[in-house]
Amino acid sequence: MSITPILMPEIFQAIEQIIQENEEAVTALDQEIGDGDHVYNLLRGVEALRKVESDLTELAWPEVWKKVGMTVMSKVGGASGSLYGTIFIAMSKSAQNKANDKHGFAQSFRDGVEAMKKRGKSDVGEKTMLDVWSPVADLLLELTTGDVELEALLQQVNDTAEKGVEATRDMVATKGRAAFIGERTRGHLDAGAKTAQLMIAATSAVLLKNTG
Ligand code: ADP
Ligand code: MG
Repeated sequence: MSITPILMPEIFQAIEQIIQENEEAVTALDQEIGDGDHVYNLLRGVEALRKVESDLTELAWPEVWKKVGMTVMSKVGGASGSLYGTIFIAMSKSAQNKANDKHGFAQSFRDGVEAMKKRGKSDVGEKTMLDVWSPVADLLLELTTGDVELEALLQQVNDTAEKGVEATRDMVATKGRAAFIGERTRGHLDAGAKTAQLMIAATSAVLLKNTG
């Protein structure tokens, strides 16, 4: 079954809402081991995406991801701006020669996450959003090769994302601003991992509602 970008506006709305609802909690995390601007950075991006969301629904996936990536790149500051911009630009390139189905999406997403790793010179275990995005990308790739029901797939994706956030607690940050305080980051969750998980939860809820 081919996938259309028809739900993109609803997904951005849901993401904006979940980030706003968790604004204080995430900012508190970012203040503990970062500079406290992470939610602000993300909301700037989501606000910009909401302005173009209605243009996306008619486009093919490579153009959708390109527009999303360019918008994020130009509007979002901080490490997260260039990292999220990179994911989407890489997905745009990858989607040009992938099937327009769940597995094709999973392949492009995996390529996006790999590009993010290169851009951030980072990998799992360094207490960043990659501790959520990377295992989720691996899982999606695996689950979409078989015949898993969407509900079960989303449940596993959300469980994996939550585990990824929790795993950052005991890690020592070796990338990003938090790396400056090294050992003192242990015991705190990474804000970027938390918002990645929130965005996954919001996206899953929209997909479930519309395909259930
Ligand atoms: P900044 O750190 O520049 O203020 P943000 O506050 O928007 O940017 O984002 C911080 C988040 O970005 C961190 O919580 C972490 O998850 C993620 N991050 C920072 N550096 C890297 C990196 N090199 N690779 C992957 N993720 C990173
Ligand atoms: Mg910050």
